[in-house]
Amino acid sequence: MSTVLVIGAGGVSSVCVHKMAMNADIFSDIHLASRTKSKCDAIAASVKERTGVGISTYEIDAEEVPAMVNLIKKVGPSLVVNLALPYQDLPIMDACLEAGVNYLDTANYEPKEEAKFEYKWQWAYHERFKQAGLMALLGSGFDPGVTSVFTMWLKKHKLKTIRQLDILDCNGGDHGQHFATNFNPEINIREVTAPARHWENGEWVETPAMQVMTEFDFAEVGTRNAYLMYHEELESLSKFIPELQRARFWMTFGDAYIKHLTVLQNVGMTSIEPIRYQGKDIIPLQFLAAVLPKPESLGETTKGKTNIGVIATGEALDGSGEKTFYINNICDHEDAYEETGNQAVSYTTGVPAMIGSAMVVQGTWQGAGVFNMEECDPDPFMEMLGAHGLPWNVTELDGPVNF
Ligand code: NDP
Repeated sequence: MSTVLVIGAGGVSSVCVHKMAMNADIFSDIHLASRTKSKCDAIAASVKERTGVGISTYEIDAEEVPAMVNLIKKVGPSLVVNLALPYQDLPIMDACLEAGVNYLDTANYEPKEEAKFEYKWQWAYHERFKQAGLMALLGSGFDPGVTSVFTMWLKKHKLKTIRQLDILDCNGGDHGQHFATNFNPEINIREVTAPARHWENGEWVETPAMQVMTEFDFAEVGTRNAYLMYHEELESLSKFIPELQRARFWMTFGDAYIKHLTVLQNVGMTSIEPIRYQGKDIIPLQFLAAVLPKPESLGETTKGKTNIGVIATGEALDGSGEKTFYINNICDHEDAYEETGNQAVSYTTGVPAMIGSAMVVQGTWQGAGVFNMEECDPDPFMEMLGAHGLPWNVTELDGPVNF
């Protein structure tokens, strides 16, 4: 039995709040606040219709720390679940410290003026959360989130050491639009246009964005082009698995997506440098995001599946030499929509956010300070994943990846 306050009212929040309402024995009192209250009310109406559970809604600018502190004190939650944007991570963490409440998010902090996501800003809060006896759990989505839990599950049950790791994220869904992103367009485009980076022999190797590509045959989706990218869990995985010699992240993109993105980049529409337009400063990428289809509007038309997983190679736990395991989840866009009114990209993030929240409010995962998913026992999380809509599959491969 617990009270939670969720911040943000996009697709990820919608899934998480629906799933919390479906688990009223864990989340007995759910509060939802965001910048636009009407979006909270729309989620609350859907939750009421689908589950019969009532939730309270509020308007808040999460960057206004005193207002956040007042809201937290009024609601009295045991956990604040940050499903707004990465820019709000630090102000929400500040508010949690001041109000004396635990914190959880799904994406690491990124300054607005620089497309550079790193854990250093949030890791710097460790001592303060520790002193306050509070827990901050970072990155409880799918990637980051489940990908880290999958890796640590392999490290607990199959491999003594992990020599190399490849994370493969495939969205095989088709939304029928010329160009759209499956989660917040501004955050998504900042991520995919940033230079690629992977971990190799103790250092970061940088390559230009969308240049290194491999083909991979994804079960229930088919063969897709996967591009090397930087993704934030590479930073935490390389910290918590010190023996890792190489860690890479791959994401699939279709030719049409790449073609549109290339044109938009070439004409300057993905820039985050302000330009003067009709006497006003505007940021081209924010304008583009306003023009593109809203991710939450794609659910109704999206068909197909996501397939996200990790391939790890290392020394087997049972002493049988080097082994390679692939662990993944396949999620159907239409099933996700039927259950929560949101497509699979929001679903695969919102469900782990609910599960991470359950781990914290039930005290299954405990600690004072700032924690990444890698630091927690993967077993109870994996158990809930299977039971709450994201079943996973583990197979042994013939040998290490050859790309
Ligand atoms: P959306 O853009 O759909 O939703 C973001 C929500 O945050 C909106 O309701 C928005 O309000 C609200 N918001 C923005 N600024 C503020 C503010 N200052 N104060 C209060 N609320 C604010 O995003 P998604 O639902 O797609 O994604 C949510 C988060 O999940 C993002 O951080 C994203 O990076 C992360 N994510 C993580 C993944 C993972 O696997 N780990 C995968 C996908 C997403 P408004 O409606 O007014 O704009």
